[in-house]
Amino acid sequence: MTNDKVVLRVENLKKSFGDNEVLKGVSFEMKEGETKVIIGPSGTGKSTLLACINMLVSPNDGRIWLENEEITSAKNINKIRQEIGFVFQDFGLFNHLTALRNVMVGLTKVKKMEKSAAKDLAMEELKRVGLEKEAELYPAQLSGGQKQRVGIARALAMQPKIILFDEPTSALDPELIGEVLSVMKNLAESGMTMLVVTHEMGFARTVSDEIIFMEHGHIVEQSSPEEMFKNPKNPRTKEFLFKLNELYGE
Ligand code: ADP
Ligand code: MG
Repeated sequence: MTNDKVVLRVENLKKSFGDNEVLKGVSFEMKEGETKVIIGPSGTGKSTLLACINMLVSPNDGRIWLENEEITSAKNINKIRQEIGFVFQDFGLFNHLTALRNVMVGLTKVKKMEKSAAKDLAMEELKRVGLEKEAELYPAQLSGGQKQRVGIARALAMQPKIILFDEPTSALDPELIGEVLSVMKNLAESGMTMLVVTHEMGFARTVSDEIIFMEHGHIVEQSSPEEMFKNPKNPRTKEFLFKLNELYGE
């Protein structure tokens, strides 16, 4: 479910840490409702790319737009950050807050929403990820898969224009990965715009509109899942997919 409205545009993005040039000119765009998956070897700059989009890291060069607003030169960073959801590998929940409070906190503290309205909205989002019964539990009482679904509910509650996922299932035991991917699949089908770094090739194949293969700070190849898996053009893509299959394939 996509349309032609561009939600995110990244243009010639560059980022170095000291002498280490991590992003060497990355460009792509995301249309409304699109799900794109980023794959690539570790250390390739995938997390740095997401961190630049979320303005946790400032790029050395290049530009990023969220809809019509250039965020790389924006003054009101906090407002824009509210419009970009982020789901972390290690969940990033507050351990001293219940699931419900974890989802509410951005609404009351950042969006300055009334507590009762925030609670209603937070419950709705917990329902959406199948956790209404767990609302009053603390992270320590939840499984990894449930924690990550709280993380997703928290991102959703802010009603972002796009959600960025950085290896959302990498910290999970294998039997808990499916429940998180299934929530993400539903989200994608409901029209959310999603940029997902993952090694889950089943998800990439069946849910994504496009796969981006990154290596050494470059986008090496970008195409539909069918193209990427059946007919990878670049030998590096071929090699990487082969290795992934050896590591994660059945
Ligand atoms: P990936 O997510 O693809 O594994 P990262 O974006 O995490 O890759 O890292 C890319 C490179 O950038 C690595 O060499 C990493 O050590 C380096 N790097 C990432 N963040 C920082 C940082 N805050 N300071 C210095 N180097 C960093
Ligand atoms: Mg990473």
